[in-house]
Amino acid sequence: MSTQRRALVIGGSMGGLLAANLLHRAGWDVQVFERVGEALAGRGAGIITHDKLFDAIRRAGAVVDGTMGCATHSRVTLDRAGKVLAEMPLEQILTAWGRLYRLLKDVFPAARYHFDKSLTRIEQDAATVTAHFADGSRTVGELLIGADGIRSTVRAQLLPQSKPQYVGYLAWRGLADENAVSDETRRALSDRMGFGLPPGEQILSYLVTGHDNSTRPGHRRFNFVWYRPADEQTGLRDLLTDAAGRHYEYNIPPDRIRREVIAEMHAAAERLLAPAFVDIVRATAEPLFQPVYDLESTELAFGRVALLGDAAFVARPHVGLGVTKAAGDAQSLVDALTAQPDDVAAGVKEYAAKRLEFGRTIVAHARLLGLSVGIPENGGPQSPLMAYLRRPEIVIREIAVPDWAERTLNLSRL
Ligand SMILES: Cc1cc2nc3c(=O)[nH]c(=O)nc-3n(C[C@H](O)[C@H](O)[C@H](O)COP(=O)(O)OP(=O)(O)OC[C@H]3O[C@@H](n4cnc5c(N)ncnc54)[C@H](O)[C@@H]3O)c2cc1C
Repeated sequence: MSTQRRALVIGGSMGGLLAANLLHRAGWDVQVFERVGEALAGRGAGIITHDKLFDAIRRAGAVVDGTMGCATHSRVTLDRAGKVLAEMPLEQILTAWGRLYRLLKDVFPAARYHFDKSLTRIEQDAATVTAHFADGSRTVGELLIGADGIRSTVRAQLLPQSKPQYVGYLAWRGLADENAVSDETRRALSDRMGFGLPPGEQILSYLVTGHDNSTRPGHRRFNFVWYRPADEQTGLRDLLTDAAGRHYEYNIPPDRIRREVIAEMHAAAERLLAPAFVDIVRATAEPLFQPVYDLESTELAFGRVALLGDAAFVARPHVGLGVTKAAGDAQSLVDALTAQPDDVAAGVKEYAAKRLEFGRTIVAHARLLGLSVGIPENGGPQSPLMAYLRRPEIVIREIAVPDWAERTLNLSRL
């Protein structure tokens, strides 16, 4: 009989794949269960990377090399006419979600990754945990990891009071082929990350890997993220309704977004954004938008069950840490389980003690950075902190930077 301990990982995206690979390499019998029925790699947009993410990817058994992403060397803030208002040097590697997914999926044994498996509930006793799926099947393990994202079924069962809170704005995103934009746009933004600050909004754009994950000039794509306000009851509800009148509660598939919604977004781009951003937005074949949420879990350990990644905490994208946080969670959990070889629940508890505080800190920091979008609460005037964060030289210094922890300290003193 095998003495391998069995781990059930719910969710086969970034958090799930990182945890699964690390546990597999630590000697566990790991099974991943993903709700979606086919490879996810075609979806997603740009990802800002950090050294800690690369450490985790190496530890997961994948190779980190020059093909990982596109290098950017500086950041600029552009005004409406495209004039540079502020610039600062910063080296960063920018990649696409699909590139990381492929990398992590390819190093994990395919036979242990199960598509089309939607968890419905879990139960546990002193020695085991059982996962029940929508197709009526179930499976038993000694550890279950809830890596099932912001709408986690695992969290909803164990911690129903922790729910995502809509923050009043959404992010339009998309990828435009580098060759689909003008020479001027390429010159303006090819090796630097660009920011724009229309009143009460914010846009940023940078180059990421291409369709074939290529980093070669001519084969890359421009990613953009454009934050725009949307009232939950009226604006957001309307945007989440398709042409047939069907309303999507959280995310509308890109091909269901109504034509007039896209046309209005294009018209707003012409009105509000620098020419390079307008070019990128218009050249994006399939734009999508995501409502922005804050999510804080009050607990991450439930006996043999652990929450990680977006199932545990979601910080607004301004910190640029979504995947890096999931990687840190996965490493911390596997380290704690390794340190407690005879007691899974004690390992899970040790993990939670370390990562709860971290999660709270980055959610708070991302909330603070959210002020840089410039939407005053209750329609009031801009606070001095908001005005400060929206200064052209400050926004490029604070948004999605590697040394965010030091910055938290500096900003909290203001
Ligand atoms: C297709 C896709 C594209 C993304 N693109 C981007 C991007 O471009 N930029 C960015 O910053 N972030 C993106 N994200 C989010 C990013 O992956 C997360 O913020 C972060 O990496 C943490 O990942 P996670 O694995 O914890 O959560 P997620 O990436 O949200 O993954 C959760 C996974 O769990 C699965 N799942 C949910 N419920 C169940 C269930 N009941 N049973 C089984 N499986 C379930 C989901 O299908 C999903 O694959 C994307 C996520 C997905 C799923």
